[in-house]
Amino acid sequence: MFRSIYAHFPFCESKCHYCDFYSLGKERTRSEDPLLFEKALRVECSLISDKLDSELETLFFGGGTPSMTAFDSMARAIEPLWSRTQLGPDTEWTMEANPSSVDLTSLRQFRSLGVNRISMGMQALRPDLLTLLGRVHSQEQGLKALETLFEAGFENVSVDLLCGVPGQSLKDVEAALQTLCSFPIQHLSCYLLTLPGHHKMAKDLPDEDTQLSHLLFVDEWMVGQGFEHYEISNYAKPGRKSKHNLRYWQGASYLGLGPSAHSYCSSTQQRWKNFSSLHKYATSLIEEKKLPTEAKEKLTPRQIHLESWMLALRLSDGFPLQWLESATQRSRAKILESQGLLENHPADPQRLRLTPRGFALSDQIIAALS
Ligand code: SF4
Repeated sequence: MFRSIYAHFPFCESKCHYCDFYSLGKERTRSEDPLLFEKALRVECSLISDKLDSELETLFFGGGTPSMTAFDSMARAIEPLWSRTQLGPDTEWTMEANPSSVDLTSLRQFRSLGVNRISMGMQALRPDLLTLLGRVHSQEQGLKALETLFEAGFENVSVDLLCGVPGQSLKDVEAALQTLCSFPIQHLSCYLLTLPGHHKMAKDLPDEDTQLSHLLFVDEWMVGQGFEHYEISNYAKPGRKSKHNLRYWQGASYLGLGPSAHSYCSSTQQRWKNFSSLHKYATSLIEEKKLPTEAKEKLTPRQIHLESWMLALRLSDGFPLQWLESATQRSRAKILESQGLLENHPADPQRLRLTPRGFALSDQIIAALS
C-alpha cells in the first residue's frame, strides 16, 4: 500500500532554457491537451486507488507547472483518489508554482483542496539572469507572488533558487538570499545549474572553484539564518524539511502519476516509469484502460547497495559506521575526514556524514566509499 503520491502536470507557460523535465510550453500545447490530461489523470487515479493506504502521508504535485492548472480541472482529475484514501492532520501536500501562474483566488482555491505547502520556482532575481535562464517572470512578479502566497494563508513555503549561473556573482547570490529570507520562507532548495556538454550555455558555466564557492556561500548564509542544511541542495527551518522528498531519499515507496512520472515500491524493490509523452500516456489510459507504464525494473542487489549509499550521503543524517565494512572503505573514509569532506555526526558518534564541502563533491565521494 502506498502512502505517497507524486503527480506530474506537464504544461508550462514557456520552456526554460535549462529544463530537462518533461514539460510542454505553450507553443507545443494544443488547445485540447489540458482536457485530455485531465481525463487521463482521472482514469489513472481510479486505476491506482486500490493501491493506496487509507491515509496519505505526502502528495507532491510537480511538473511542469501544476499551478497553471484550473482548480476545477485539478479537483475533477484527482477526485477518484478520495474513494479509497484521505488526507490526515499531518499530510503534507506540496504544489509547485511559478510566479507568473498564481493569483490570490487560485491559491485560496488550491488551499481549500488541501494543498498546504508551496514550492515556488524563483530561480533568480536579477532581471538579466532571469532572461538568460528563459524564465517568463520578472523580479517584481516573483516577489509579488511570494507576498501573495502568504496573503493566501500558506505558511509552509519553499523557494527554488539556482546558483552557478553564467554571469552570477557571489554578491548576486547574497542579494537573492537576503531578499528571499526577508519573507517568512521555511525552506530553500538551491541547485547548482548543470547543463549537458552540447547545450549552448554549457561553455559559459563558471569553473568548478566558482561553483564550489557559490555552494559553500549558500550553506554558510542559510545556516546563519537558522536553516538546517539537511540535504545536498536543501535547507529547512526546524520541523519544515520536505516530508515528501525525504521519503525518496530514505528509500520509501511512492506512486507517480502523470506523464514521465516514476514510482518505486520498497517491498518488491521495483521501480517503473510512465510514458514521457502526453499522447501515449493518455491513449494507454483512456483508450486501452491500462496503466501507462513505459518501463519497469527490479533493482539488483548491487543497485540497491549503491542507492543506499547515494541516498545516505545526500542527507545530513549520514550513514552508520558499520557500513564501512572493508579496510579499504575505512582507510578512504579516514582520508576524506582529513580532507574535511567527511565528519562525525555531531549528535551520534556512531554515524558519519558529509561536510558542506563534501556535499558539493558528493559524486566523487559516493564512488570512493560504496
Ligand atoms: S517552469 Fe520548470 S518545468 Fe517548466 S520549463 Fe521551466 S524549469 Fe521546466
